[in-house]
Amino acid sequence: MERVFIAIGSNKGRRSDNVIDALRKMERGIAIRKVSPFFTTPPAEGAKGGVFINGAIEGVTSLSPDKLLLFLHGIEKSMGREFPHKIGDERTIDLDIIFYGNRIIKTETLTIPHHRYRTRNFMVFPLYEIAPDISDPETGETISDIYLRLVKNGNY
Ligand code: ADP
Ligand code: MG
Repeated sequence: MERVFIAIGSNKGRRSDNVIDALRKMERGIAIRKVSPFFTTPPAEGAKGGVFINGAIEGVTSLSPDKLLLFLHGIEKSMGREFPHKIGDERTIDLDIIFYGNRIIKTETLTIPHHRYRTRNFMVFPLYEIAPDISDPETGETISDIYLRLVKNGNY
């Protein structure tokens, strides 16, 4: 069993309903321990669609990293997301793995810790609410450290 943190985003359709739906589906493969508050975030430069809601969960799973990614893709698909994803497309649901235990993974399909989470307030802010004291296995920084850096840079 590994502790995992998953980022959740939605900017299409009934966003809060999408999140609830995704949480229910995730529980088939992940025992959810914590759910963060959700924040609204404008779509990034060049991204299509409306305002996002973003949050994160902490959970425990027996799925391997690859199986977890497939499991999350299955949920995205079942909720109407088309594959392959086009960069910047609006999405009913986006489920990204931020951490998988303390593992550092870099393969063609998977980068863990998530390759851009440290600079994305919409990933760090929810994480800070549920896991301020855990350390990034790659940099050794705590989520608090990363959060404070973003806030000090006016990144909120
Ligand atoms: P994004 O989440 O960056 O907006 P997508 O959801 O379309 O983009 O994901 C594109 C690909 O990113 C996925 O097919 C997956 O193989 C890859 N990927 C790499 N690392 C991760 C991760 N940590 N969590 C989720 N997907 C990842
Ligand atoms: Mg994704």
